[in-house]
Amino acid sequence: MDYNRLAQLLFPNITKTPADIEAQFPPRQLPEGAKVTRFAPSPTGFVHFGGLFPSTVGERLAHQSGGVFYLRIEDTDAKREVEGAAEGLIKTLAKYGINFDEGAILSEDGKIADHGAYGPYKQSQRGPIYQVFAKQLVREGKAYPCFTTEEELDELQAVNKKEEIKNTDWQAEAEAKKAAMLKGREFTMEEVEAHLAAGHPFVLRILAMGDPEKKFKFTDLVKGTLEIPENDEDFVLLKSDGIPTYHFAHAVDDHLMGTTHVIRGEEWLPSLAKHVQLFSYLGFKLPKYMHIAQIMRLDENGNKKKLSKRDMGANMDDYTSMGYCPEAVCEYVMTLLNSNYEEWHMQNADKPYTDFPFNIKKMSTSGCLFDFGKLNDVSKNVISRMSAEEVTKKVTDWALEFDRPFGEVLSRDTGFAQQIFAIGRGGKKPRKDLTTWADAKAYMGFFYDEFFKIEDSYPETFDKSDIIATLEKFCAGYDESDDMNVWFDKVKAIADSLGFASDMKAYKADPTAFKGSVADISMFIRVAVTGKMNAPDLYTVMHIIGKENTLERIGAMIDSLK
Ligand code: GLU
Repeated sequence: MDYNRLAQLLFPNITKTPADIEAQFPPRQLPEGAKVTRFAPSPTGFVHFGGLFPSTVGERLAHQSGGVFYLRIEDTDAKREVEGAAEGLIKTLAKYGINFDEGAILSEDGKIADHGAYGPYKQSQRGPIYQVFAKQLVREGKAYPCFTTEEELDELQAVNKKEEIKNTDWQAEAEAKKAAMLKGREFTMEEVEAHLAAGHPFVLRILAMGDPEKKFKFTDLVKGTLEIPENDEDFVLLKSDGIPTYHFAHAVDDHLMGTTHVIRGEEWLPSLAKHVQLFSYLGFKLPKYMHIAQIMRLDENGNKKKLSKRDMGANMDDYTSMGYCPEAVCEYVMTLLNSNYEEWHMQNADKPYTDFPFNIKKMSTSGCLFDFGKLNDVSKNVISRMSAEEVTKKVTDWALEFDRPFGEVLSRDTGFAQQIFAIGRGGKKPRKDLTTWADAKAYMGFFYDEFFKIEDSYPETFDKSDIIATLEKFCAGYDESDDMNVWFDKVKAIADSLGFASDMKAYKADPTAFKGSVADISMFIRVAVTGKMNAPDLYTVMHIIGKENTLERIGAMIDSLK
């Protein structure tokens, strides 16, 4: 077969050679050890929590090593493309600290444009580049056209399958596929010419020379050394519309764009033999690979399941509406990615996660378990370390988008909101009331008359008359200028006067000697002022809402009890 002629027949319009293209994509000039990584999403929808993993790893490894992190949009499947998905994806990733140095990124006008010298960064715009390499493979007898339509292929497989009744189903399937494939390899130049003259579409297949009985050793930086059977499948390189498959685009793009580390989901591991073969056919140096374990979740029966698209926690946009702060999500992702992150974090509580020396060797080789409980713990800690000013701003911004009435109330007087969020903040053991911004209203809404309501009722074990007496005495003695000790001494005095223990030790030693303790007396007042059994420090609460409001609320409670 005259392969040069075949190549010319199939790609008459391609005049460039691989060397021409290589000249357009010179090797990057980077310091020794600098890593070039990329995130290469298909713009088919939202960012999945699982997508945050490879992108975080890519971002960390590149930026930690003084390298380059770029974004390539893999939009070769027009059918699955969702309008605006790429823009949405870039914005979402930016929220989680995933910023690109290069690639198809957002310009100031909000549109996606190429930034960098290795573009185009949208695969749909790279058609001619792929075809140059495709033509070269045909020239070298390493790829061939296949004019068999999908339907014919299915038929061929079906016939072959019937003949293989002795075998189990999957064996029959594999055999049938193989037979159909081998048949596709047999063609003459005349046949090709006739097909082309008739305008028949073709796909371009690789001519696979691998022997699956033979295995080669491969070292994945996450999974370790693997033994992989050689590829013997003549997989498709170019589809009938000239658009490359993932495999072909991966080899050409990652080579030309100078990717040093391919970081992707482990669902690509079974395709690795194909990629190794393809890089070798093309004469490209193989990049390093890191296949990241899938994210698992526990189902109702406690079994591990893949975190699928529809599962709670999969869509990153949901985290925003649920009120999770990105800092917390990032930290949670780090705890899942590197087993020593938490230890480092304990010793470096005041440092951002970007200071953590991310280590490939500390990555989990099997699936990480996604767990809201753990995320919530991390989140509480992260928020508890923020300043009152920061929390006020973040809660307000969130509420203005997701709970407008609350947002408006908060922005009415930022200083007031900040005083509230300052309660129990600072010190060594800060309060941890907020897991998400969505918790804020339930936690502190009572400070505002609009949201104040009596949520908890008094336990029936107490006499109403004692509650009323407590509230009346408290009002009578309330002086806003009392310091905390004087204030509390007055509460204790009320306890003593009503037969409640003012001294907790005495109460614990003999609870039956009292109607209750000073803790119960405080609770009577707390419920009247905050509507809740549990609330932040009551003395501070009263100072924030002011004397008038405090006495009004207590008065209203007295009225309702009478
Ligand atoms: N477009 C591929 C995907 O979304 C990218 C895989 C890769 O990073 O190579 O799965």
